Amino acid sequence: MHQKHNDYFYEQFTKDTTMKKLALHWQILIAFIFAVIFGIFLKEQVKYVSWMGDIFLRMLKMIVIPLILSSIISGIANIGNEGNFGRLGLKTLGYYLTTTILAISIGLLLVNIVKPGVGMDISSISIGENINIQRQSMSDMLIQIVPQNIFKSMASNEFLSIIFFAIVVGIFITKVDQKNQTILSDFFSAFFELFMKMTMLIIKLAPFGIFGLIVEVVAEQNDFGNMVIKLGSFMITVIVAILIHALITLPLLTRLIGKAKPFKHFNNVKTTIITAFSTASSAAALPLNMKETHEKSGVSHKITNFTLPIGATVNMDGTAIYIAAVVMFIAQANGVDMGLKEQIMILITAVLSSIGTAAVPMASLVIITIILEVLQLPIELMALILPVDRILDMFRTATNVWSDSCGSVIIAKSENEQLNV
Ligand code: ASP
Repeated sequence: MHQKHNDYFYEQFTKDTTMKKLALHWQILIAFIFAVIFGIFLKEQVKYVSWMGDIFLRMLKMIVIPLILSSIISGIANIGNEGNFGRLGLKTLGYYLTTTILAISIGLLLVNIVKPGVGMDISSISIGENINIQRQSMSDMLIQIVPQNIFKSMASNEFLSIIFFAIVVGIFITKVDQKNQTILSDFFSAFFELFMKMTMLIIKLAPFGIFGLIVEVVAEQNDFGNMVIKLGSFMITVIVAILIHALITLPLLTRLIGKAKPFKHFNNVKTTIITAFSTASSAAALPLNMKETHEKSGVSHKITNFTLPIGATVNMDGTAIYIAAVVMFIAQANGVDMGLKEQIMILITAVLSSIGTAAVPMASLVIITIILEVLQLPIELMALILPVDRILDMFRTATNVWSDSCGSVIIAKSENEQLNV
């Protein structure tokens, strides 16, 4: 049954997609350059094109809830399906959570040290009147993750409650009798495919959306230099955090817990990592990851077939770093003070939302729109990040995939498999 969920990715991404993804990248760059020129020279005409940005944001918001619901339900149902959360399922989930939490912690630490958003001139961006980071006690925040009424949660974008509900539904799908389990699982896989199709179309429209959003930002910007410096330092902070996680934390875990040779393994899967980097899609790199981790590093099919496809959708360390960093960056730019309690909330949010992120280019943007809305931070600020998103997407996707692969080595070793690394 869990093959369904994965078959979809195989079909979608093993074909001729690399070129298309690269083409989208160029389209976005061209849209960005045109938007800057338009914004500078045709300030008065901006109102005729800025609607494209609004529609783009509305479309992202339109699909986000069904997309994360179906992505999480079908993903978790697949993990549980292997012997009802048996040993392998628990180990896999444990690894995913540990690495994601470590990744976000590094990201948050760096963003707190560098403070890339502080002092950013955002006076020109229309910010919603009331920025309101809910100041509640930690225990209240945690209690509220459990929804009282799931439909109310959906209507009011109670993001964490929706994810909590999806995880519970996913787990319980594995507990119902076999016939219904197949029906439910097929239903959610189909639902997921439907919304993935829509997501991919919306992402294809990104150049127009980016054009509309950037035109507006540029036309209203008074201090361009400041914006470029702040964005640059945001970018470098994210890349450094991702590199620390990929080159220090993950190899250390592979060495200490897996008792394997991380850099030999890295060498074995380098084509996979390069594919992830250039396509910015974990799903596109999945088939190669399964092949190289099995053939070169010697992890059994049993483990690669189970951990890697699920990891591609559920385990996203680089994405989690990015989500946490974007939220902090935008909060800093708005002068919103994020204390320890708020940052723990961001950590939880980033862990859960990285699980719900689809394994395609720019997927985190879909999630970030809703997180910003929940925190009542201005979504318009996301426009600033869009031009650098693609480059960061390459780094975060390569790390997402590398973490999946290290996970399968560690789990294989813990099952006493003889590997080549
Ligand atoms: N592109 C990422 C991936 O496929 C997801 C994201 O962070 O946008 O892993």
